[in-house]
Amino acid sequence: MNTALPVTQLAEKQWDLIVIGGGITGAGIARIAADRGLATLLVEQQDFAWGTSSRSSKMVHGGLRYLGSGQYRLTRDAVRERQRMLEEAPGLVEPLHYIMPHYQRQFPGPRIFGLLLWLYDKIAGRRNHDFLPGDRVLDWIPGLRRERLKGGTRFADAGTDDARLVLRLIHEADTDGATIRNYVRATHVRQGAPASVTLEDRETGETATARARLVVSATGAWTDALRQHLGADRTIRPLRGSHLVVPFWRLPVASSVTLMHPEDGRAMFIFPWEGMTVIGTTDLDHEGDLNDEPVVTEPEYRYMLTLADHYFPDHQVTRDSIVASWSGVRPVVSTNHDVAPSDESREHEIWDDSGVVSVAGGKLTTFRLIAEEVLATGAPYLADPEVVRGPGPNRVFRPAPETDRPPGLSSRQWHRLKGYYGPDLPDVLSAGPLTRIATTDTLWAELVWAAGHEGVRHLDDLLLRRTRIGMLLPEGGRDWLDAIETACAPVMTWSADDWGREKARYLTIWRQAYYLPREDAESGA
Ligand SMILES: Cc1cc2nc3c(=O)[nH]c(=O)nc-3n(C[C@H](O)[C@H](O)[C@H](O)COP(=O)(O)OP(=O)(O)OC[C@H]3O[C@@H](n4cnc5c(N)ncnc54)[C@H](O)[C@@H]3O)c2cc1C
Repeated sequence: MNTALPVTQLAEKQWDLIVIGGGITGAGIARIAADRGLATLLVEQQDFAWGTSSRSSKMVHGGLRYLGSGQYRLTRDAVRERQRMLEEAPGLVEPLHYIMPHYQRQFPGPRIFGLLLWLYDKIAGRRNHDFLPGDRVLDWIPGLRRERLKGGTRFADAGTDDARLVLRLIHEADTDGATIRNYVRATHVRQGAPASVTLEDRETGETATARARLVVSATGAWTDALRQHLGADRTIRPLRGSHLVVPFWRLPVASSVTLMHPEDGRAMFIFPWEGMTVIGTTDLDHEGDLNDEPVVTEPEYRYMLTLADHYFPDHQVTRDSIVASWSGVRPVVSTNHDVAPSDESREHEIWDDSGVVSVAGGKLTTFRLIAEEVLATGAPYLADPEVVRGPGPNRVFRPAPETDRPPGLSSRQWHRLKGYYGPDLPDVLSAGPLTRIATTDTLWAELVWAAGHEGVRHLDDLLLRRTRIGMLLPEGGRDWLDAIETACAPVMTWSADDWGREKARYLTIWRQAYYLPREDAESGA
């Protein structure tokens, strides 16, 4: 994948489509558009998936929550897309069990929850839930508070690695001829035929103006910034959600657990991830600058610990044992701050500002449907509107080639690698040793391949999004940075000084945004 074309070259071409934003929404649109033969350019101002799409709870769910609020069609679409992703990209999108424990006098009880799941299963066309008595619940969630526990409802949805999901789509789009650039910001958009976008290379400072028949802004929480150039009002309410990563043994859960927070009754999750346990998420207005990394605040940290204290009386989570944290900003379409954050709709919205189409909101699960809808909205601006109408690609994710599992890899690892890398798997396997990095499941070969082939500009791209090493090893993997340099230097162009700067930059970002606030920091903003 060539992600290094200068912006001046990007400006020389007449594009059918320029997609602004390299999260799940933009990557999905580029994937579908390139498949349909549109000359497509995608630009991302930071790294791919740097925005919300590497910071979600990583659940590919059918939208049980939508069903609870009567949004049947939305649930039906999401359930179908979930099934499609499970079938097309196994290993990347995997079934995940959820358990909702039921306590006496706590809503929702097993009957009402079971009814909701009955309908959910009916939409999926298969039964996916059962009721577990208390002792069976404890088999799955050993440390759960037993007092007044009536049992639990177990059901199935799915999980993924959100950043890798975005990368898979970007590779697919690239294969179909799309041009992809990270670290290029759209600083201005203008309507017209063609519409134009001013591009700024964030690394070199170079600027140029590119033209396209159709411009799509898929900039999530940043949507208002570009739409303001078009005279539109503000429509986005950025809502922050944070997570804590703790060693599995300190809070062991064998499935995702849905728990009602004791202070406000909000649904929260504790779930297994990459051999660790994650607690999340919060939901509150984000007042910070969107261009800064969002960070977990001290009140959020305490709120999440309160959840663990309440439901897991003997848990071993201490402040010092937190391995990492991450925060993301939900691009919620709303201007009414009187509504409680968690009551806000998560539905996406599309605006057509005469040749500049913007989209915000939505979920990981429904990226394909959103992409189709966006392209249908923009169709009148294309030379041949029919190109984007009608059925899309048969498969969004091309499969990995049928090859034998190399010795030393478990079937579980093999399954994951096929899902993560699809057709690129043979190249990944030959990029480096097929051994794990420290205690993670990530192989050195994956790291080296990503360093050489996935548009990595900074060390944080490699350790926080291409892989998750920075969130899985103590102190962001500080002790492994020299070994990482030794492994990756041959496939990168960085000098020894560059490596020194990159390590320092990475550790600063990690300390500020992927760990905990200093204990004396009281800010809740
Ligand atoms: C805490 C949390 C938990 C969540 N959990 C789930 C979940 O479990 N399942 C689920 O389905 N959804 C979940 N979501 C929602 C989901 O993550 C988001 O809806 C989705 O990632 C939004 O994707 P996006 O591509 O629209 O936005 P983003 O991923 O934010 O992408 C937009 C991109 O546009 C770029 N950009 C902005 N302005 C410019 C510009 N001028 N030029 C170039 N690039 C620009 C940004 O840098 C950014 O990378 C969660 C969200 C949060 C915050």
